[in-house]
Amino acid sequence: MQQLKTICVYCGSSTGKHAVYRYAARQLAEDLVSREIGLVYGGASIGVMGAIADQVLALGGRVTGVIPQALSHQEVVHPNLTELHITRTMHERKMLMAELADGFIALPGGIGTLEELFEIWTWAQLGFHNKPIGLLNVAGYYDDLLKFLTHMHQEQFFKSRHRELLLIENSSSDLLARFSDYQLPTLPQDGLHKEDLA
Ligand code: AMP
Repeated sequence: MQQLKTICVYCGSSTGKHAVYRYAARQLAEDLVSREIGLVYGGASIGVMGAIADQVLALGGRVTGVIPQALSHQEVVHPNLTELHITRTMHERKMLMAELADGFIALPGGIGTLEELFEIWTWAQLGFHNKPIGLLNVAGYYDDLLKFLTHMHQEQFFKSRHRELLLIENSSSDLLARFSDYQLPTLPQDGLHKEDLA
């Protein structure tokens, strides 16, 4: 695939119960910086979001934050970012994050993280983009979600080829290696597969 210059990371605005979540964020930061990949994220200084941004900056990497005006106090905008975009709405935030990134990774987080992951994944399912999407299943945090995805597939609400659009790994170096080897799926011209319309 094309060289990855920037990856968007979705993750919690909370730190979570265990230090392993922050540790995984810092490990991903190291793997991004060592590959000269910039970080795009939600611009906050709190939670797992703050942990990854702090570590990328500490290692001399590039961090672009994108935050809606209304959340800039609640999520405490990170004061030292390489670049900061303040958007009018949440939809503008998510669109800009998607445009700025060559790929997407979700770390552990709450429903905001899930919303962002599922939106970018459903956009890939619809053929609106063909950038790689990964889930870092840190310490089994997403095991039950993965079980539910299997159930969705078994109940035929979800096609295997759409499931395969989400790359799942436990370690950030394994996930980034898969991103580097990623073969971009061809986008259907109209953004939809014919069998999806049948
Ligand atoms: P959370 O995973 O809930 O801690 O939130 C992580 C990030 O997702 C934060 O920057 C939230 O602002 C963002 N977020 C929360 N709710 C939404 C939503 N409905 N759509 C998009 N992003 C959201």
